[in-house]
Amino acid sequence: MADGSTRRVVVAIDGPAGAGKSTIAKRLAARLGFTYIDTGAMYRAVSLWALRRGVDLSDMHRTEQLAKAARIDLEPGGRVLLNGEEVTDAIRTAEVGEAASVIAVLPGVRRAMVEKQREMGARTSVVMEGRDIGTVVFPNADVKVFLDASQPERVRRRLIDFQAQGQPVTAETLEEQIRERDQRDRSRAEAPLAQAPDAVYLDSTGLTIEQVEEEILRLVRARVSNGKDFR
Ligand code: C5P
Repeated sequence: MADGSTRRVVVAIDGPAGAGKSTIAKRLAARLGFTYIDTGAMYRAVSLWALRRGVDLSDMHRTEQLAKAARIDLEPGGRVLLNGEEVTDAIRTAEVGEAASVIAVLPGVRRAMVEKQREMGARTSVVMEGRDIGTVVFPNADVKVFLDASQPERVRRRLIDFQAQGQPVTAETLEEQIRERDQRDRSRAEAPLAQAPDAVYLDSTGLTIEQVEEEILRLVRARVSNGKDFR
């Protein structure tokens, strides 16, 4: 686009569970004045709906119907609404995370989610995080980061998250859940978790949140600002 002042920017952050994507993406969006889009929350919201309705998670047609029909609002303050109802906390359980990764293998569900995500990215500049943002949703994203961390570090971070939410879980159970979920995300046929060839790989193990944030901000500035305001 010729006019840098009105150009919409997409910063794509992909990576496995517990790599720090949400924390970093949220902070980056605030720093840049962009909209933060947590695509995992969208898969979680659809799976919560399916669980509540007693829909078989392997039923391609019913899950696709729900994915298409779901009205998902990601509010700037972090609230997540499903069909107008607040589900911010309800989608954060281990059960819903697991169910999300089960329906996320289904092509129809993914198509519906990708369509909603592209609409969101067309409206405003975004920092979007997930598993397939740089590979499928926005293959032409201005900045792509594959954020990773060692398995023990990812388990440790998730444990802190769950404890903060008052959800009782042991490190052993969590390790098993994360391993299983990563395996499913990486091995599915449709849009598997993978680093885009042109994504920057960033291992956040041993780095502070500020260090990771600064590193990505540096990439954003180098690639898209050209000294102009790019909101
Ligand atoms: O990121 P989060 O852990 O909330 O995502 C829950 C699940 O949703 C992931 O394990 C993954 O299976 C699925 N997901 C996906 N593609 C995305 C975001 C999430 O398949 N872009």
